[in-house]
Amino acid sequence: MKTAVVAIGGNALIAPGKKLTLENQMDRLRQTSKELVDLIQMGYDIVLTHGNGPQVGNILMQNELTRDEVPEMPLDALVAESQGLIGYMLQQSLTNELAKRGINKIAISVLTQVIVDEDDPAFNTPTKPVGMFYPREQAEKFTKEKGWVFGYEADQDGYRRLVPSPTPKKIVESRAMRRLIFGGEHQVELIIACGGGGIPVVKKDGKYVGVEAVVDKDLAACRLAMDIEEKLFIMLTDVDYVYLNYGTPQQTPIKKMTVADAKKHLKEGHFGKGSMAPKIVAATRFLEHKGEETIITSFAKLEDSIMKGDGTHITR
Ligand code: ADP
Ligand code: MG
Repeated sequence: MKTAVVAIGGNALIAPGKKLTLENQMDRLRQTSKELVDLIQMGYDIVLTHGNGPQVGNILMQNELTRDEVPEMPLDALVAESQGLIGYMLQQSLTNELAKRGINKIAISVLTQVIVDEDDPAFNTPTKPVGMFYPREQAEKFTKEKGWVFGYEADQDGYRRLVPSPTPKKIVESRAMRRLIFGGEHQVELIIACGGGGIPVVKKDGKYVGVEAVVDKDLAACRLAMDIEEKLFIMLTDVDYVYLNYGTPQQTPIKKMTVADAKKHLKEGHFGKGSMAPKIVAATRFLEHKGEETIITSFAKLEDSIMKGDGTHITR
């Protein structure tokens, strides 16, 4: 068996436009699980990482709406809650699909802490919007009381909290994960880890403590792939290819590129900030470490990306 780190985006967890009920999410996951187990049947053991945007958004809103009755939780705790929720749904759905096909594995999710640097410059300039929109007076009140930073969003005419998005340096649980992946007797379990970019922690006086930040999920997946020394890193999203001149009449799919090509196109601004750009940065970091190949494609093209070379393949 070969192994791969597979990162799945929000569209793998909920169908576009659907309400975030447990039922709708489980429905979507039945399809996602089929496609992931297909990959296992193609001969790959997988370590799965996933986004948490809509789920953590809802948990955050529950917090914000009940803060007068129930103690409010900090962001690291909320990311942990979302890992638990999504991990549960993925575990059940994937384990059911594995059993249906008679594959002797179970899916296990690992609550994952990601170490970031206390003096990462991202802490000085929060950029990632989270939670509800507030009117100006309320935002000013929170700034005074809690030291939160807000950004104005014109289309909603409201203020939204901005949190830092620091670089993931190391995964606390990676050694234990290596054991789950490589240390078994005959069978390797399907590991789910680093959900929502992982729970951000810093190391202070030799101890881990949570911080109010959000780690980009693609960069965290890349860190995980490097920590466990995988060779193949697959990012599954809602486009079949990475494109040049995306969204223009000249848009062309990239079938193959090297790290040097990727860096050049990134500089030229071909990749959306906050969407495709972090995936490209993650791909190049992984390949410059010990990675051999990164594939960016959609679920629909997953099988053909392995069998026929569809999707965008990035190599050193
Ligand atoms: P995910 O949840 O999978 O991380 P994102 O929305 O963050 O999804 O990233 C995928 C999106 O990136 C695509 O839907 C597309 O709109 C956008 N994108 C920006 N630039 C490009 C590009 N050059 N090629 C392909 N997609 C791009
Ligand atoms: Mg994204």
